[in-house]
Amino acid sequence: MNLESMISDRARAVEASGIREVFRRRADMVDPIDFSIGQPDFAVPEVMKRAAIRAIEENKHGYTLTQGVLPLIKKIAAHLERDIGWSASRCESSMIVTTGTSGALHIAMLALLNPGDEIIFGDPYFVAYPHMARLCGAKPVFCDTYPDFRMTASRVEPLITSRTKALLLNSPGNPSGAVASARECAELLELCRSRGVLLISDEIYDEFCYADALEPTALAGGAKRCPSPCRVKGSEDAILLIRGFGKTYGCTGWRMGYTVGPKPLIEQMLKMQQYSFVCAPTPMQWSCLEAFDVDMRPQVEAYAKKRDLVVERLGPLTELQRPGGAFYAFVPVPRRVAASSREFFEKALTKNILVVPGGVFSERDTHFRLSFATSDATLERGLEALARLLRG
Ligand code: PMP
Repeated sequence: MNLESMISDRARAVEASGIREVFRRRADMVDPIDFSIGQPDFAVPEVMKRAAIRAIEENKHGYTLTQGVLPLIKKIAAHLERDIGWSASRCESSMIVTTGTSGALHIAMLALLNPGDEIIFGDPYFVAYPHMARLCGAKPVFCDTYPDFRMTASRVEPLITSRTKALLLNSPGNPSGAVASARECAELLELCRSRGVLLISDEIYDEFCYADALEPTALAGGAKRCPSPCRVKGSEDAILLIRGFGKTYGCTGWRMGYTVGPKPLIEQMLKMQQYSFVCAPTPMQWSCLEAFDVDMRPQVEAYAKKRDLVVERLGPLTELQRPGGAFYAFVPVPRRVAASSREFFEKALTKNILVVPGGVFSERDTHFRLSFATSDATLERGLEALARLLRG
């Protein structure tokens, strides 16, 4: 049997993530200063751990309904009503609890994209976006957002064609940490509506939004929140919202996320979930019931201080955009230091520092991603070494 010749065109169309090379190199390093990790370094809240253990002890091991267990659906819907103003009853009837945020993105694209259809997202982007689109035979369309990483309506508009099905907004963004303003969100939604394009809002980092990027909302007595297009009145019928638990609560391996959007789309996505992931992991669904009652502000405030330290140390050495959210900085490599981010990555390795070269997230190879989700001691030590490198 010639297995090589049997591999599908679909699989061949997708390259292994460049981030795998970073992991491979990490395996050869002794006690590296690791700025490559895309997950929080804090502990999962005790109440969530205990709820997971309880669910297992109570023998909650079987399948759940495809859309998830009802108490969790109700809890998420109540949270969304408080947070973005979408009606809880509408959310309850048009939601799927998913196998991570990735699960939601996959079933959304499967339900939406025909071969040849186009989906637009900002460059730099989360590594999986273009590959997920290609798996559906669709064409990823990159909206160049350099140097400020703002995906504005005026940058997106020229990219819309008769084949454009969706615009994927990721704010706070990976790898840039950029947070779209309330105005930018509203203008993108308006553009999508006027051109008959679905707005998909990947808000996996919604809780990691720092004070200077928060904006007053009409909700909760004018409380300041991370801007989202979902807060525009009447946005429910034009947006597919995707959020997750993994980053917020430090449990990326639990594979928990959720999606809420227009019912005709959610119904089709349910079929995609039924014949792929089946349901989100059962004990984790029960443990995430506790999630919204946990106050994660101390952890987020600690990350804001780490962000400040990154900007303070590296800002004077390169044209760094101040990240408003997530836990990444996307740092330009000065020409005098290296010709490409790949070259810089290799230079950093010689100092036992691991970053991710920007080409993994972009059509350009000019920046590197630094994840500051690490201990203050590692951050201090690593920033000092990086600063020496950036000085050239
Ligand atoms: N979207 C973005 C922007 C991400 O950064 C990630 C994870 N790094 C995901 C989605 C996927 O997250 P999950 O682990 O919940 O599948």
